[in-house]
Amino acid sequence: MSFFSDLGLAEPLLRALEAKGYTDPTPIQSQAIPALIEGRDLLGLAQTGTGKTAAFALPSLHRLINDPKHHKPASCRMLVLSPTRELAAQIADNMRGYAKYVNLTIQCVFGGVPVGKQSRALVPGCDVLVATPGRLLDLIDQRALTLRDVEIFVLDEADQMMDLGFIVPLKRLARLLPPKRQSLFFSATMPQAIEQLGTQFITNPVKVEVAPQATTAERVDQQAIFVNQSEKQSLLTMKLRDGLADGTVERAIIFTRTKHGADRVVRFLTPAGVSAAAIHGNKSQGQRTAALKGFRDGKVPVLVATDIAARGIDVSGVSHVFNFELPNVAEQYVHRIGRTARAGADGIALSFVAEDERPYLKAIERLTGVKLTMLPLPEGFLKEAARLPAPAKRPNGADEYQGSRGGRGAERSGERNARGGGRDGGRGDGRGGRDGARGPARSAGGRDDRGAPRSTGPRFDPLRENVDGGARNAGRLEARRPDARPDTRPDTRSEAPRREAPRSDAPRTEGARREGARPEGARPARRPQGGGQPQRGRVSAV
Ligand code: AMP
Repeated sequence: MSFFSDLGLAEPLLRALEAKGYTDPTPIQSQAIPALIEGRDLLGLAQTGTGKTAAFALPSLHRLINDPKHHKPASCRMLVLSPTRELAAQIADNMRGYAKYVNLTIQCVFGGVPVGKQSRALVPGCDVLVATPGRLLDLIDQRALTLRDVEIFVLDEADQMMDLGFIVPLKRLARLLPPKRQSLFFSATMPQAIEQLGTQFITNPVKVEVAPQATTAERVDQQAIFVNQSEKQSLLTMKLRDGLADGTVERAIIFTRTKHGADRVVRFLTPAGVSAAAIHGNKSQGQRTAALKGFRDGKVPVLVATDIAARGIDVSGVSHVFNFELPNVAEQYVHRIGRTARAGADGIALSFVAEDERPYLKAIERLTGVKLTMLPLPEGFLKEAARLPAPAKRPNGADEYQGSRGGRGAERSGERNARGGGRDGGRGDGRGGRDGARGPARSAGGRDDRGAPRSTGPRFDPLRENVDGGARNAGRLEARRPDARPDTRPDTRSEAPRREAPRSDAPRTEGARREGARPEGARPARRPQGGGQPQRGRVSAV
């Protein structure tokens, strides 16, 4: 099918698509929409960036429109589960856009904000509810919501749900859903454990699959520069200041490995005249939303993010991704660079590689099968670097940025003191900042984002992955990599999952499949460039 009008969608939906400027469906949309309109269950192997949201939103809205019923109080007709708050908000926004010419109510609930307002919003019920699992269970336990009347259920990013430790709440949710319903199950990868989870939700599904993830980077120009750790600050400042001034950089996402590293980048960019905001798990939900909004609206051209904070975020017009620090898990690199070159555009991913990061670079090249283009330091860099403010010194005399690798011990103990002795992931400073971290005193529910009973200790949040999720995930992620070796330099503050020896009990997942899918060293085939469309027939990084 080459046009949305061929798919039999209700007229107000076609009007909304026209208003958005979407004329032809992406591959996942043309495959999924007709089957979903018929009421079939669906198993979708796809990631964000493929047009997946519209693939489930449009036919579901179509069904709700064609079977008009008033939703009951404290219930919903359609439930969409998303692993992270930002993604939930994004899905709800997209759905509101598609439903703008129909009278359907769409609500979104997630942790990190007070539960009271959300439970009040659910009193009359709604047509569509987009939720993260932990907050959803909180609301169910408070009797603010029942899933009795769910007609359409969507589980998005199932593999991320598993990685983030949502398996128990998902199993519980499966029991709370009515047996007679339409179910859609999406995952970027389909290892056995995910497939098994799928069987709890879907019956006789239509299967829809788009190309594997490792081929995503085709439109991303992948570059790297060897630079001393202590000179990265000047290099980034120069690149951004010049690029923003001459228009070559429109919007950039800077990746750091740690939350504190992200804050430091903002701290040195701001006085240099580069407007930047950080997004990571130590920020309150309000700060994260504001940072993302400023970035989306174009008011703040630079977003500094940690790996998990940026997952699933879909902002168009990101011209550049800068890897200020390389991830120590190669798969994260693919996720990172997938933030650029979205919706048919091209993008540049520039990695700053310090001496001790060379092994990470090798691992990335091995995983992606792409050799990064090495660039020299820009002309006049050393002179310019001397003029830029020197990296801030730590009390022990180390440059701030050496802290994130070299001077780790000193940095950590300094932060512990500043934060009141809490673990990096736990909120030790008593400021609160996010529903979960504030704990029982702030939240009416007694459950964390995974639906596990809340404890007084540091708890897990998808965006605070190094609390307990990071440790758990480390083994799981590493088990994906047949070539994984224990890291000889543990970084306890990294937000990225750390290298660990493969665990025999961990499921064989994404990476293993991906690595098996293409011979090592092979370059992904080039595809024709599509214009103005999300990745067609391919999957982009989350
Ligand atoms: P998603 O995979 O749902 O995150 O979508 C990726 C991006 O593509 C989003 O910005 C969508 O709004 C956009 N998009 C989805 N479907 C289409 C389409 N058929 N034509 C153009 N853009 C689309």
